[in-house]
Amino acid sequence: EARYDRGLEKSRSTFGSRLNRLLANFRHVDEAFFDDLEEALIESDVGFETAMKISDSLREEVKIQNAKRPQDVQNVVIEKLVDIYEEAGKNENNQIEFAPEGPTIILFVGVNGVGKTTTIGKMAAMYKKQGKKVLLAAADTFRAGAIQQLNEWAVRDGVDIVKHKEGGDPAAVVFDGVKKAKADNYDVLFVDTAGRLQNKVNLMNELSKMKKIITREIPEAPHEVLLVLDATTGQNALNQAKLFKESTDVTGIILTKLDGTARGGIVLPIRNELHLPVKFVGLGEQVDDLRPFKPQDFVYGLFK
Ligand code: GDP
Repeated sequence: EARYDRGLEKSRSTFGSRLNRLLANFRHVDEAFFDDLEEALIESDVGFETAMKISDSLREEVKIQNAKRPQDVQNVVIEKLVDIYEEAGKNENNQIEFAPEGPTIILFVGVNGVGKTTTIGKMAAMYKKQGKKVLLAAADTFRAGAIQQLNEWAVRDGVDIVKHKEGGDPAAVVFDGVKKAKADNYDVLFVDTAGRLQNKVNLMNELSKMKKIITREIPEAPHEVLLVLDATTGQNALNQAKLFKESTDVTGIILTKLDGTARGGIVLPIRNELHLPVKFVGLGEQVDDLRPFKPQDFVYGLFK
């Protein structure tokens, strides 16, 4: 089982290492221990209430299990964290939903710079490796260089791409993409979009126009609308997410750049406040730095 050995170093140094240090100097579990633990949790961005909840349930658990040695306490901490991450995602579908037949259409939304294009490039490589026939649609015709960048990924991954000129109509790209995906029996179509956030009405209109074009061709589609968020932007990512969620039916989150932040705890408030599954996490810029989000791997990655 591949754990997140790479990519969580920064979060590990603030949280895991800190806790390990705490435990190394530890003689008995006292209030000072829990104070330090709460501080470490808050600094990792799990949010104040969650930090308190974790700390309270740890107090209980340490009592129940009569954990006295540092190693036992660490195990309780890890167990409890895994519980909390799993509890947050209970009944959630963490997998990408594929259509039983015909192409699966996946829309990627999010503001400029969060890592949409890169994520599509990584995902295309992943599904191609699994034997799927992958098509990309460069419907971010707005950001300078976006089409070229997606094209480079298509070439690198050895997958096909539908693209028009920069500044062209994104709806036309989507239309051509869906048509081609159907006609040439692609398994999956990834649509890169320019989620422009001038205002909510605009965003809503743009996204619903794209969805309408897709639905006209394939009534059940899009099968997924994945919102890409940059973990390094913390609370800002949460605010963006709320706006996108109000503007369209988001089915899941991809949290990028976890390698670039010490505040990996942000995964929890994102899931808890948005009630959306985190489906993948980005742990670097390379093609294999995208991983399905698995709570257990994630928590172990914080300690390693
Ligand atoms: P877009 O505007 O949303 O399409 O964003 P891009 O895909 O162009 O990504 C913006 C920058 O973030 C690029 O330099 C990417 O290499 C970088 N990036 C994307 N995902 C990750 C990640 O998981 N970790 C790191 N460190 N960088 C990332």
